[in-house]
Amino acid sequence: MKIAKIHQKIRNQRKDYLQKEATKLVNTYDLISLEDLKIENMMQNRYLAKSIGNVSWGMFRNFLSYKTVESGKVMVLVNPYNTTQLCSECEEKVEKSLAMRIHSCPNCGLVIDRDENSAKIILKRGLKKFQSSIDNTAGLAGSACGETSIEAQGSKKIVN
Ligand SMILES: [Zn+2]
Repeated sequence: MKIAKIHQKIRNQRKDYLQKEATKLVNTYDLISLEDLKIENMMQNRYLAKSIGNVSWGMFRNFLSYKTVESGKVMVLVNPYNTTQLCSECEEKVEKSLAMRIHSCPNCGLVIDRDENSAKIILKRGLKKFQSSIDNTAGLAGSACGETSIEAQGSKKIVN
């Protein structure tokens, strides 16, 4: 019983922490870009399962998702392909193992923490995807109202 209570307490603390972090992010940023990771598949990888389970990635993503919707902000899920290997500055492929924590690009000279480099790529992809969704909406709205492409470009400027 005591052990079960301790586990319950840890679960609650973790949940509380994730709620608070998600709220912080959503209050601070208008757009949140995330890798569209297949958590279920990753949990089957015994090397990754423990660390993913410990940080409760799925729960955190759910919190972020409903909080962004509630507050009228934007969440974009992007293709995770090569986000750890590409250079966020010049997009050159810089291969590295999981143990290499620094991204050092021989092409453009960028030296940066590997996670920060990945985060920049994920943000770039998110902004690009969001922009193209705006463009598509503008295009559809334009054609539905019989408006010209100038109006569509005008609404792009508002987004910028
Ligand atoms: Zn580079």
